[in-house]
Amino acid sequence: LHTDTQKPADAALHILQSIYGYDAFRNQQAEIVNHVIGGGDALVLMPTGGGKSLCFQVPALVRSGTAIVVSPLIALMQDQVMALRQNGIKAAFLNSSQSGIEVNGVESALMNGELDLLYVAPERLMMPRMLDLLSRAPLALFAIDEAHCVSQWGHDFRPEYIKLSILHERFPDIPRIALTATADGPTQREIIERLSLQQARVFNDGFDRPNIRYRISENQGNAREQLLRFILNEHEGEAGIVYCLSRKRVDEVAQWLSGKGLTALPYHAGLGNDVRQQHQERFLREDGVIIVATIAFGMGIDKPDVRFVAHLNLPKSIEAYYQETGRAGRDGLAADAWMAYGLQDVITLRQMQGNSTAEEGRKRLEQHKLDAMLGLCELTTCRRQALLRYFDDNLDRPCGNCDNCLTPPETWDATLAAQKALSCVYRTGQRFGVSYLVDVLLGKEHERISQFGHDKISTYGIGSELNATEWRTLYRQIIARGLLKVDVEGYGSVQLTDSARPVLKGDEQLTLRKMVKLSKKSKERKNR
Ligand code: ADP
Ligand code: ZN
Repeated sequence: LHTDTQKPADAALHILQSIYGYDAFRNQQAEIVNHVIGGGDALVLMPTGGGKSLCFQVPALVRSGTAIVVSPLIALMQDQVMALRQNGIKAAFLNSSQSGIEVNGVESALMNGELDLLYVAPERLMMPRMLDLLSRAPLALFAIDEAHCVSQWGHDFRPEYIKLSILHERFPDIPRIALTATADGPTQREIIERLSLQQARVFNDGFDRPNIRYRISENQGNAREQLLRFILNEHEGEAGIVYCLSRKRVDEVAQWLSGKGLTALPYHAGLGNDVRQQHQERFLREDGVIIVATIAFGMGIDKPDVRFVAHLNLPKSIEAYYQETGRAGRDGLAADAWMAYGLQDVITLRQMQGNSTAEEGRKRLEQHKLDAMLGLCELTTCRRQALLRYFDDNLDRPCGNCDNCLTPPETWDATLAAQKALSCVYRTGQRFGVSYLVDVLLGKEHERISQFGHDKISTYGIGSELNATEWRTLYRQIIARGLLKVDVEGYGSVQLTDSARPVLKGDEQLTLRKMVKLSKKSKERKNR
């Protein structure tokens, strides 16, 4: 396969066409592939279905030696390796499920330079014996898949990933390519730092999944029925995933949907391995299977024609929402991300966070992530724009393919309230979090406020038209709109952005989604 006489770019294209049967590279694939072939390090941010695998597989075939692929998805290694072998690529994997004989066979193939790609679980890779073998084997590159697992602030943290920085120390001359489909700004910086990728070129393909239609509605007390109607009206006989928060709810929903004549299978950590395996198999192989799952399901599942992902509960962060909904429509055809959430979800998630043994900083961060998620739910403007903004990505115009773009929701004129909220941020020096700001607006008497002299500023006590919950909702909504940004790495203080100025100055009106329960006072005010 190694075509030393050709230029690297030609060799890469040749492999793409002759081995994979594709005509051309997509988006930034060609640049990434050539950069890695040339020996450079790379951090690749590409949405699910964007084609990350080829970014390391093609260089693996062009460069001499074996490419070591680090992946947390042990369960899927076998499938991936089989698929590669079917294309005539010499691939193997090493994980804890293998016998000594199998392991020996793979290891000697590695040492003899007979492998193009070797998939390894991170804990396996870190074993001294393995590192020693690698230092004597001809290596093409290291690929670190699902690189966001290295982030302690991320939602998929894997402690084994932290140790991967050793690769840079032990193998400074071997190029490394880290890949992920979910990483906001702080997570990207953490990946770079923890994996010593300071010299790496960053390829950011953006996060947009234009074929996914985002729809979020409130649970009207009958979320199951809402879901059933959605499936029957729009996706009968099609494959989908339904996420629930608890195992109990998963079982209950799967059973209920089955009772309505759908093929709905439960999937969660409380089921036996064989049952889970069997349900996953059916989902992958049969048509029209719906998996009802806790978040345990889906990471790395490569099923291109999942037509909908439904949430019967609020995910705990926008990252989780993005990743879970991202499992829909990997084939590029139209797909739905549908959600019904309720206030009870917020309470449950808050309780789970409150009871966790995590340190305070971590809890605070989780709190902000949940607030951001709620903010996305309560938006009245384009959801895709807000979603992308959360990942520091940008979409110039409303997308036309989310519920808010398609059927604009009921709103109220929140300009005056927003002005109060924003100027309270300004007057207190942009150093405080939402709870504090709400206390100032409501004129609460407590020591901290008087210590800072905030009982003397003009915004103290000017917010009696809304109650604390409503002010929080308002803050959440204007954060989601991008008028304020939260310093999540610090103490959750909020700061004004450039978009706040026109609202503060009265040059721009702000309309927000009607709150579920407006206080009496504000209702009266509205009716006048
Ligand atoms: P990711 O890992 O980013 O989610 P994959 O690498 O699994 O995405 O690719 C998604 C799908 O797109 C796969 O079916 C893959 O074979 C296909 N694909 C990737 N690159 C190309 C390309 N250049 N041309 C055509 N199909 C491609
Ligand atoms: Zn939109």
